[in-house]
Amino acid sequence: MIPPALALDMSDEEPAENISGGTAGGGKSAAFDPERAGTRAEAVVDRLGEMYWTKTYGGRDAFECLVRTILSQNTSDKASQPAHDELMARYGSDGGPASGGGTGTDLARALADADQPELAETISSAGLYNQKSERIIALADRICEEYGGEAGFDEFVRDSDPEAVRSTLLDMNGVGPKTADCVLLFAGGRGGVFPVDTHVHRIARRMGLAPADADHETVREHLERDVPAEKCGFGHTAMIQFGREYCSARKPACLDDPEACPLAGHCDQVGVYPATGEVVDPAEAE
Ligand code: SF4
Repeated sequence: MIPPALALDMSDEEPAENISGGTAGGGKSAAFDPERAGTRAEAVVDRLGEMYWTKTYGGRDAFECLVRTILSQNTSDKASQPAHDELMARYGSDGGPASGGGTGTDLARALADADQPELAETISSAGLYNQKSERIIALADRICEEYGGEAGFDEFVRDSDPEAVRSTLLDMNGVGPKTADCVLLFAGGRGGVFPVDTHVHRIARRMGLAPADADHETVREHLERDVPAEKCGFGHTAMIQFGREYCSARKPACLDDPEACPLAGHCDQVGVYPATGEVVDPAEAE
């Protein structure tokens, strides 16, 4: 079962409440003093922590993260969520018709052994179900062959050198940099990993925390360089929430009211022109 914190990035849904230091998902709260930030990026993340939460992450099922990612490709969350639920009901440890709903099923093993047309039918609501079912089975096969199943894969993600994990994940069909970083953060519990989704990419460049024309990887490098390791996880999730509430793609809060954004004092407003009401991607800013 993937909790809201992970679903947040994989499916762009935010946690329903401030979960700082809570028990759901383990981890511990990251203590900090906003007055003592060493960089502007750190000051921004500190302020986001005050506004939202300061949770640290880890302990999620790495293979399930990957399955969820594949299901969500080229479709909406609304369509992929039922497919995920159906898949888990049929092949996960709480389901499994083959086992009569028994427990202890290794998801990777169950999916490696799955009948492809049957899996395709199970996930049909996600669209592209033939291609996705083939990908999932191939991935499950690889996880079983190389790690002996999902537990071994979890161990690899949690304990191996992060760069080795990252490049292994990127070598898997259907896994991109954002997914690899989310698996490292939410399953591996790795500090110093700041996944960059579309919100983080936009906000970091608008604020001037990264060059205006930086690609996702460059934004990630800047944030991971400037934000202390223990703050990267909540920096990522809280920045996404901030993007939804204040700094949206088309209508940042400062456009109509310079006082409306709580982070205005840290922001260069690259590509945002309150005088004319115009907003462009930072890469296209004058
Ligand atoms: S001041 Fe405007 S552009 Fe800057 S973070 Fe706030 S809403 Fe976004």
